[in-house]
Amino acid sequence: MKLNENFKNLKESYLFSSIAAKVAAFSREHPEKKILKMGIGDVTLPLAPAVVNAMRAAAEELGNKQTFRGYGPERGYDFLRERIAAHYRELGVSLDTDEIFVSDGAKSDLGNFLDLFDRENTVLVPDPVYPVYADTNVMAGRKIVYANACAENGFLPMPDESVDADIIYICSPNNPTGAAYSAEQLAEWVRYAKRKNAVIFYDAAYEAFVSESGLARSIYLAEGVRECAVEFCSFSKTAGFTGVRCGYTVVPKELVCGGLSLNAMWLRRQTTKFNGVSYIVQRGAEAAYSEEGKKQIAKNIAAYRENAGEICRALDRLGVFYTGGKNSPYIWLKCPGFSDSWAFFDYLLENAGVVGTPGCGFGANGSGFFRLTAFADQKTVREAMERFAALFG
Ligand SMILES: *Cc1c(COP(=O)(O)O)cnc(C)c1O
Repeated sequence: MKLNENFKNLKESYLFSSIAAKVAAFSREHPEKKILKMGIGDVTLPLAPAVVNAMRAAAEELGNKQTFRGYGPERGYDFLRERIAAHYRELGVSLDTDEIFVSDGAKSDLGNFLDLFDRENTVLVPDPVYPVYADTNVMAGRKIVYANACAENGFLPMPDESVDADIIYICSPNNPTGAAYSAEQLAEWVRYAKRKNAVIFYDAAYEAFVSESGLARSIYLAEGVRECAVEFCSFSKTAGFTGVRCGYTVVPKELVCGGLSLNAMWLRRQTTKFNGVSYIVQRGAEAAYSEEGKKQIAKNIAAYRENAGEICRALDRLGVFYTGGKNSPYIWLKCPGFSDSWAFFDYLLENAGVVGTPGCGFGANGSGFFRLTAFADQKTVREAMERFAALFG
């Protein structure tokens, strides 16, 4: 037996376990102090009633001999893929339903899609970003180069012609920085990808949070993109499906390399290694697009947006530099008075009982930065920002 030694190259992810350990220790020492958690990248509001009703009805169908269903189509039921295509039409993007693949979430697809690529490829990953992109490639033993995101470029790195890459990751709106690209900026990435004969992996998990006009909710709004980009999206942050599990990946038919079609390869990969998402979950996802479901989901997103606004206003008053908040549930701030994210984390916990996420956990360029999340209830956000103001005002 010989194991995949690339696993030895993975950096141990201490981020969330270290946060949990520090918070637990603080609670033990100060049981009387209320801790306000603003660090988790998970939704907090419950599912829309329209989604719950649809899943309940689907469960009933499965319990009835006449309406029972077994294995579904590996790439998802037509009823859901048609709804997803309709969602894209509303954004101004025309897709064939055969280009849409339903899955149990964007994280698994982001990792699994690499099955289609040779180990010799070089990948370009933004720094800072969602750690999954780098780690899945470390596991495969691929070479990784980084695109530096920093305050100077508004945390939106643009292509550097001197850098060669075969697979390019873009996350917009970005986790953790909340920065989002315009269609024109994405078109520049598309032109770069074509010059390099590369493919773009575009993560649109937070597209529903885009509120400023001029910013893209899909990479397919950029020109000439169908030959070079795959888009990963999810119901997790949009419809609160983090625990339910449903996402989708778009693979345009024009995406062909060396005579191989990525769409055909992905279909083959999924039919071989995946048996589809639960019927119940797909009916729930379908209901997220119903008139009622859309309204209920919009209400939840509006509540998160309110929270983000509350955080931004507090930071504005304090004159703290930050990005995000407008088009994202995340606010990415420069640690006031600290150059080390963990030192700031400790100071904020000790003196305000507020928990956030140290920016260094998302990449080297996150050092000195800090992520606060709008995925919390309004009361928590208000109180946290009052304490924050009292400490740094
Ligand atoms: C939360 C998140 C996802 C969603 O992952 P799921 O597996 O669909 O829950 C994808 N990308 C980013 C950047 C995220 O933060």
